[in-house]
Amino acid sequence: MTDTIFGNGTDQWVCPNDRQLALRAKLQTGWSVHTFRTEKQRKSQSLNDDELEIILGVIKRAERLEQNEQLRIGRLVERLENMRKNVMGNGLSQCLLCGELLGLLGTPSVFCQDCTQKVCIKCGIETTGSQKRSQWLCKICSEQREADEVAEEEADEEAEEEAAEEADEEADEGG
Ligand SMILES: [Zn+2]
Ligand SMILES: [Zn+2]
Repeated sequence: MTDTIFGNGTDQWVCPNDRQLALRAKLQTGWSVHTFRTEKQRKSQSLNDDELEIILGVIKRAERLEQNEQLRIGRLVERLENMRKNVMGNGLSQCLLCGELLGLLGTPSVFCQDCTQKVCIKCGIETTGSQKRSQWLCKICSEQREADEVAEEEADEEAEEEAAEEADEEADEGG
C-alpha cells in the first residue's frame, strides 16, 4: 500500500506533470490540484493526457499561425506605407507614383479604379474586373487589394481549422 504514504488518499496535494504545468501556465490557473474533492469530481474536471496533447497542439498551432499571419500582413502593410510616403506626383497632370508628366506631350496615362488617381502606364497594373472588363489599378491599390486578400484568406483558413478541430473533438468524444 505505497499510496498511503502521502496521505489518506482523499486529502493530498499532487504535483501536476510538465504538460499540465505548461497548460496551466497558458490558462493562468493555479499550479497544483488539491485532491480533497471526491475522486469523481476531480476526474470530471481534469484532462487526460490525450486531451492535454490536443489542447497544447491547438495552442501551439494557433500561435504559429498568428505569427506567420502577422509577419506576412506586416510586410505588405509596411510596403504600402512606404509607397504612399514616396509618391512623386499629383495624380492629375503627373503620374501619382513616379511623377512623370502625363497627357498629350507626356506619357499615356490610366485612371486607377480604386483611388481614381492618374498614373502612367508603367505604374498602372491592368487587371480583369467583374464581367471580364479590364480595369487599371495603381501599384498602391493593387498591393492594397493583395493585402486585403491575404487577410481574408488567413481568416478563412483559421475558420476552417477551427471547424476541423471541433469535428475532431466530437469524434473523440464519441469513441
Ligand atoms: Zn508612373
Ligand atoms: Zn490607386
